[in-house]
Amino acid sequence: MAGAGAVGFPRELMVQRIQSLVEEGFWDALRRLKLDVLGTDDSPIPITGYYTPRQRRPMASFFNLRSGSLVPPSHNSVGDRNNCPVPGTLINTNNMRGFQNLDRVQLLKAEAKKILQDIVSGKVEEDPSVLLRFLVTSFADLKNWKVYYNVAFPSLVFNSRMTLLSLQPASKVLTKEEAASMHTSLQKWRASSETTVIPFFLVSISSDSSASIRQLKDWKACQGNYQKLLFGFYDHGCRSDFPGWVIRNYVAFLSIRWKIEKVQFFCYREYKGNPDLEQSLIGEASFPSPCGWDDPDFLPDAIGWEGINPGKGTKEMKPKEIDLQSMNPASQDEEKQLMHLKLMGWRHFPVNIDKLSHVRVLLLGAGTLGCEVARLLMTWGVRKLTVVDSNSVATSDLVKQSLYIDKDCGVPRVTAIVPHLKERCPAVDVEGIQMEIPVPGHPVSSSKMASVLDDCKHLQTLVAANDAVFLLTDKWESRWLPTLLCASENKIAISAVLGCDSYLVMRHGAGPGTSGGADEVITQIVNLSTEDALGHQRLGCCFCNDAASLINPIPYGTLPGLTSVASGKAVELFARMLHHPDEIHAPGDTAGMETEHQLGLLPHQLRGSLPKCVLSMELSNSSVNCTACSVAVLSEYRRRGLDFVMQAISYPTYLKDFTGISDLKRPDTCPKIPASISVNSDKISDVRCLLLGAGTLGCDVARILMDCGVRKLTVVDSGRVVVSNLARQSLYTSDDRGAPKATAILRHLVERCPSVDAQGIRMEIPMPGHPVSPGEAAGVLQDCERLKELVASHDAVFLLTDTRESRWLPTLLCTNENKIAITAALGYDSYLVMRHGAGPGISCEASSVATATDKLSTEDALGRQRLGCYFCNDVIAPVDSVSNRTLDQQCTVTRPGLASIASGRTADLFTRMLHHPDGIHALGEIAGTSSGHDHGLLPHQMRGSLSQYNLLTLLGYSSSNCTACSNAVLSEYRRSGMDFVMQVINEPTYLEDLTGLTDLMKSTSYSQVEWVDETDEDDFFEV
Ligand SMILES: [Zn+2]
Ligand SMILES: [Zn+2]
Repeated sequence: MAGAGAVGFPRELMVQRIQSLVEEGFWDALRRLKLDVLGTDDSPIPITGYYTPRQRRPMASFFNLRSGSLVPPSHNSVGDRNNCPVPGTLINTNNMRGFQNLDRVQLLKAEAKKILQDIVSGKVEEDPSVLLRFLVTSFADLKNWKVYYNVAFPSLVFNSRMTLLSLQPASKVLTKEEAASMHTSLQKWRASSETTVIPFFLVSISSDSSASIRQLKDWKACQGNYQKLLFGFYDHGCRSDFPGWVIRNYVAFLSIRWKIEKVQFFCYREYKGNPDLEQSLIGEASFPSPCGWDDPDFLPDAIGWEGINPGKGTKEMKPKEIDLQSMNPASQDEEKQLMHLKLMGWRHFPVNIDKLSHVRVLLLGAGTLGCEVARLLMTWGVRKLTVVDSNSVATSDLVKQSLYIDKDCGVPRVTAIVPHLKERCPAVDVEGIQMEIPVPGHPVSSSKMASVLDDCKHLQTLVAANDAVFLLTDKWESRWLPTLLCASENKIAISAVLGCDSYLVMRHGAGPGTSGGADEVITQIVNLSTEDALGHQRLGCCFCNDAASLINPIPYGTLPGLTSVASGKAVELFARMLHHPDEIHAPGDTAGMETEHQLGLLPHQLRGSLPKCVLSMELSNSSVNCTACSVAVLSEYRRRGLDFVMQAISYPTYLKDFTGISDLKRPDTCPKIPASISVNSDKISDVRCLLLGAGTLGCDVARILMDCGVRKLTVVDSGRVVVSNLARQSLYTSDDRGAPKATAILRHLVERCPSVDAQGIRMEIPMPGHPVSPGEAAGVLQDCERLKELVASHDAVFLLTDTRESRWLPTLLCTNENKIAITAALGYDSYLVMRHGAGPGISCEASSVATATDKLSTEDALGRQRLGCYFCNDVIAPVDSVSNRTLDQQCTVTRPGLASIASGRTADLFTRMLHHPDGIHALGEIAGTSSGHDHGLLPHQMRGSLSQYNLLTLLGYSSSNCTACSNAVLSEYRRSGMDFVMQVINEPTYLEDLTGLTDLMKSTSYSQVEWVDETDEDDFFEV
């Protein structure tokens, strides 16, 4: 507002603008507040800004916001002589669109209205700082560590002219005596903690030249007792020809509240902490009273957005942009990695990150399960890991054991695994220990006796030093000693066991409570109870019953995908257990139980089979005959310590005789190559798979497909690897930061399987309802064409992107080309894996497909009713689902183990489909029905939940209203080709009109349907 030509009086009262200075600490504090406390709440927040008179020559003072500013002034008494606390309002939106769409004119008016109300009510006299009220609008882009913001200092637009009659340095206006007295009084005012934070005040000068400073509320009291009265205020400005910004609201106050029409004012400025009467100004202004302001409904106009110059045309206001990445880069990586856990708290469950980061976990086994469990534990925020294994990495391990790469071959797993974990999560504290776990019933030669005893001692120490133990070894008997040690030490133990096509995941029960007075646990030998320390009956261990015999643990020949499913469940079970108040003592939940806990049920055992598509929950108590956790065994161990262990190791029948139960060793009935699956390895290695999405699902699915034998992979993704991806997206390491995922993934696939023929394509999948500008149209069209070619040149397409709308075009193309399409989608704690149905058969003896536009059948080429696609149940066309959403929705917040489980199911469904004689035309099967062929069940859809631990197989047919696979859509596509696609991209409602969804929605039954997005997709539907 400052301008040239400010000469001569009278002239219009013009002021010097005030500028904000927002410290990075403020935004960092907001980032934390948003992430940890506010979540999706975007209501206005009262905050505190700091105002100060000009301090230095020749600069104006800034209006400050700092890290402690995110509280209202009353909660925060950090004001001091250079920081007058001022109340403000922060409006932080949930997304960029919300930020852009804020009505800043109205917001400013609303703040101005508050100022006016405070003037009229007299509040200003009590607390003059409300005249300085300010407003901040922002969007804290937590994902990218950026903040966009604007600051406004609302100033009432006086509807009559304010005239400046004079303006001079105070030192020139005052007599020497007056100046000296004023200097002293001002110093006193500024030195007192009570008055120094009050930016508006009165200066009265009596006839004897003595000046005194008073508060505004004393105005009436000092009427008539002075010769001269100045209306003083702290002036941030530095100009000699203009007063500072705040005089405008001050004048408004004087006029409206006190009906003054002419004042002498005093612009107080400082230099080096002292009143600077050379630079402070005294002036005179007149202002006829404004009209209409007494009306309670009056909404005054206001100006004051930084970056807008009133009177010079309202320009587009550009937000200021702050990059927070330069702040504490050291701790930032860790914060980025933990963001998805914090986002879980926004709508679902407040994760105890502190507990997870401190829990010490011992992993026994660094093979197939060990790799996956270690990585998923890090995703859950676990940061203290110790890994024990005795083997080295073998070439054949690479496609199965997710962390190792070709250069690790021959290296001990425990040596190889450490850098692989650290390059995904630098904050992890991981130690690898090479050690063979002593097994019972395997006599050792006398020369090895000492080293076996050492191993036993070492394991004893390790179990004692950790809080939880994962039993992930291949060898069944190697779980005995750790199970015994965990039961004795009352440590959390989680077993994951893989059979050839089924798995067992269980948490062992707590150790026995001691019924005598407690000295050291180790001395409690005789009085062990069959109950745990809380008086609950102890849950069983993996040796307690025959549960485990249903699972035949074998080191080879497990179905690809099984590891991911079992690992995901093991880690979820662990995380759930840590969040249970009774932890290890928590009773086992059973299927169908009601639970209020946001993480759902906490079962004792989970058993599942891939080909049967079943998942069951079991509960069993500790057996009195158990060779590992029974009171008899534990008492003996506590009495004799490792002598007992060594005896069990050396004498094959000792444990059996001791407990009177059958041999520890399980019959190995599972053949080396699972007989139930006749693998057609040529078919698998020749099939060309197109993976859309190289994120969490993409990485896992690509890896598991290679384990299945797939060798031709094309991966499409448009993103780049960022730090927060590393924990969740299994293939990437910190070396990939900034690299396109489409190229980074290739290197990792080849590192694990040199014979893979993989290519990566960096491309954004065109999406409906994302209108493109004319300039972008050619590029988008090119992408559409390219995707079409890709679908045509592949045999199967995996839809693994994280938005709903990006699956639309591939779904349409696959249906049109009759290609296998498999969707995997994640909710917060549930997933969907489905194969789309075949494309429509043609009901005439038709020539080429392209010409057959009108006569599409509702049946497929085999005359079967077509199965549905991902969009068949929707009642709304896919549209832009990101721009208007909150961060947790944009990031698809899911429980960490979920992607792993869904990916395993996805690859497994695909291979089963590939081996089915009818392939894409195969009927959808439902669990519990006999499949009639030996490939196992081939469902249409599988929906699994981690809160209920259920798995549903569902069947749905192609809907005539479907926006992606209905004949209406296909006909239109075949007729108009990419013109049709481009129209859908540009016009969100076009698809709904075309498919009749618009009419459907108008009918009352659908009028209440709301947009259900992926993260809310926890409502199951059954067909
Ligand atoms: Zn047991
Ligand atoms: Zn459909």
